[in-house]
This record gives sequence, structure tokens and C-alpha cells, in this order.
Amino acid sequence: LDRLRGGFAKTAEKVADNLTGLATKAALDTSTLDDIEEALIASDLGPEASKRIRDAIAARRYEQLDERGLRTILAEEIEKILAPVAKPLEVYGFPRPHVILVIGVNGSGKTTTIGKLGAWLKDEDYGVLLAAGDTFRAAAIEQLRIWGDRIGAPVISGKEGGDPAGIVFDGVKQATATGEDVLIVDTAGRLQNKTHLMDELSKIRRVLGRLNPDAPHDVLLVLDATTGQNALAQVEVFRETAGVTGLLMTKLDGTARGGVMVAAAEKFGLPIYAIGVGEGVSDLRPFDPRAVARAIAG
Ligand code: GDP
Repeated sequence: LDRLRGGFAKTAEKVADNLTGLATKAALDTSTLDDIEEALIASDLGPEASKRIRDAIAARRYEQLDERGLRTILAEEIEKILAPVAKPLEVYGFPRPHVILVIGVNGSGKTTTIGKLGAWLKDEDYGVLLAAGDTFRAAAIEQLRIWGDRIGAPVISGKEGGDPAGIVFDGVKQATATGEDVLIVDTAGRLQNKTHLMDELSKIRRVLGRLNPDAPHDVLLVLDATTGQNALAQVEVFRETAGVTGLLMTKLDGTARGGVMVAAAEKFGLPIYAIGVGEGVSDLRPFDPRAVARAIAG
């Protein structure tokens, strides 16, 4: 929890800065409520969530609200928005393997998150196979291999420029033969070439579907919290092109833009399965809405 608080420290600072002075005004009138709403928007919580929180505060009919009271109510209201999207990632897909496609723009932390997620699942005694489906960048293949070594998970890969769907096919075959429970697939993140990306993803889906009609069981979008509102635009694009089933938020440590989680939860209602709070192997954490809400509210 301390680590989590540490991770959200900058976000909390920003929220606190933006709210400074508002709670100490004499009366909680409309203009103060407006200011609070604006402060929340400026803290990356997004217009929808900020309005909802404002309305919730107004509905409580406080005459006055001190800073402590404001933080408490803020934490409560943020938790209400986050709780419905905090879901445990369940990897029960059967027949094995349960297939997770991981998508996201380059640099969002996709490969790192796959490594961390693999370590997490292995800790829970699941057998994990990683597939290097981002064949566009040789470095991506190499980086996934490094993560595989680090966490003791096999990695299936082809050569640079190879067919990702072929690697995914081989991955399912191999996992079936060796009894791995979960296949985690890295994919290319070229949003600037949407048609190509869509073709690639639909081919992967076709191949997977032939092997197991339920696969992929999850399509998880990795979102870099430091990109703030831009992350929300990515959800919209990937939802259309890739059928996103859930989110993994990364780089919440060291950014003041952690409020974007609240905006994403309110706007999309997609499950958030885990949050990344560092580059280390154990820095992917289950998403605890109460702890995060309190960390953001400071
Ligand atoms: P990809 O291009 O999407 O596969 O991104 P990478 O996995 O290569 O990550 C890009 C950079 O972000 C790397 O330097 C990672 O170490 C870093 N990174 C990934 N996740 C986190 C996180 O949760 N916190 C921090 N601070 N850095 C992260």
C-alpha cells in the first residue's frame, strides 16, 4: 500500500494543488462547486467523472466543507467510480491455453507489462508461454525473450517481419503440447497504420478461432497513464479496431496524471485488471479501487 501511495504521490499532489483553498471558502456555494469540478478536470479525471463528483458533493448539502472533509468525500466518490471496473483477471479458458492478446501503442509499456503479468501468473502457479507477435520490430522480439528468461517462461518467436498469426498458431500448439495454462501474445502497436494493424489482428483472431472458438479470451489494452487524455483517445481507437476487453494501466508511478484512471473508468466502463507502478518484475499490482481512490485523493 505504501508503494501504491508512493506511486500516486505526484497525482495526489496535483489534485491537492488544484483544490487548494477551495475547501476553506466560507460557503459551499455554486461557484465553489464549479471550482471543484474544474480542479478535478484539471487533475485529469475527465469531464464526466468530475461532473459526477461535483453532483455527489452538492447532493450532500454541506454548508461548509473543510479540506479533510473534501478529501474524504473525494476518495469515496472516486472509489464509487473505480469499484465497478476493478476486476480480477481470470484465466480459466478451457481447453488450455487461455489466450491473452496484449495490444497498445509502442512505448506504452506493452512488453514490460507482459513480462510482469507472466511473473504474476507464474506466482499463482499457472504455466505461462509468451508469444512474440510483434514481428515488426526485432527489438521487441529480443525484449520479450529477455523477459521470458527473467521470469522463467518459454517464449515462442519467429523472425523479424514474420507472420504474427503463424506465431500465435504455433504458440497455441506448443502450449497444448507442453501443458501451459496461459498464452500471452505480444502484438505490434502501429496505430499510425490502422488498416494494417486491423488486418493483422483479425488474422490472428481467425487463426485462434479455428483452434479454439473462445480464443482470444482477453484482449488487453496497455495504457500509459503519463499520456493523460491521449490515453483515452487510444481506448476509443483500439476498441474499434481490436475489440478491447480490458485495460492494463502502466507508469502510474512518477506521473501526476493518475487521475486519468478515473476518467477511463467513468467513460468506458472497461475492466481495469492491473496497474503498473514501476519497471520491476513485481511492479504490476492488482487494482484495489479503495486504495487507489485514497491515494489519488491524498
Ligand atoms: P512497448 O514498446 O509498449 O513494448 O514498451 P516497453 O515495454 O518497452 O516499455 C517502454 C518503457 O516504459 C520501458 O523503459 C519500460 O521499462 C517502461 N515502463 C513500462 N511499464 C512501466 C511502469 O509501470 N512504470 C515505469 N516507471 N516505467 C514503465
